[in-house]
Amino acid sequence: MLSWLRRGASPPPAEIDAELWRAATGRWLFMRGLGGDDNARLRALSARFIAAKQFSGTHGLEITDLMHVEIAAQACILVLELGLEWYDGWSEVIVYPSQFAPEREEVDEAGVVHLTKDPMAGEAWLGGPVILSYEDVALSADEELRVAGYNVVIHEFAHKLDMRGGEPNGYPPLHGNMSAAAWKRAFAPAFEDFCRRVDAAESRPEHLIEDALARLPLDPYAAESPGEFFAVGSEAFFETPELLAPAYPAVYEQLRLFYRQDPLARLG
Ligand SMILES: [Zn+2]
Repeated sequence: MLSWLRRGASPPPAEIDAELWRAATGRWLFMRGLGGDDNARLRALSARFIAAKQFSGTHGLEITDLMHVEIAAQACILVLELGLEWYDGWSEVIVYPSQFAPEREEVDEAGVVHLTKDPMAGEAWLGGPVILSYEDVALSADEELRVAGYNVVIHEFAHKLDMRGGEPNGYPPLHGNMSAAAWKRAFAPAFEDFCRRVDAAESRPEHLIEDALARLPLDPYAAESPGEFFAVGSEAFFETPELLAPAYPAVYEQLRLFYRQDPLARLG
């Protein structure tokens, strides 16, 4: 009976080797303070993610076991308490060796179409693939080069969660115990405040701008739009909660309710 029931079910995903798991995750800030149980659950979830998604490299890039696990672990920290089904509806992870510059047509305010070719570290398509530059994936873990909270994988997968509700606008589908009004009350003033701070930093004398931007609690890219504020805020939530929580406590609290995790508490 059991064997009949099991027939047709997909085989369980291969377990991630303990040594490989340590090598792939040991350097990431978001792993700080993650308890043994949570660590084991993240490892099992990452194995399911690797089995469920199709990874492909461009320009002859071979996706090694280490790269699979690095990307899966970072994608899965977001859904550790939500479930892998939050990533249903698409299947492809495309990895470029370094930043990529897709040609795009953009229409400006005057209605003029421009062809742009801006280099990108990552991209998430509505209903389509997540695209990553591996150079930037690796950069997020490099202690010397690490920009506070910079994590391209967490960023793009946060967009994916946001897109569960359509175009990414910083307003993902909320859980039943959350309030849309409370989300807006937390995010709208924080976004406005952050835009003001970026403007103030950028209006300083030129030789002081870089330093002023570096002292902000979030990557200045968060000021691009509410959707980017949510994605960059999610990077900071997992990577540098000790900077995000004091700067924007209400945003931290909403993200804690949304992700059902408390990375700040893990730091003790
Ligand atoms: Zn983004």
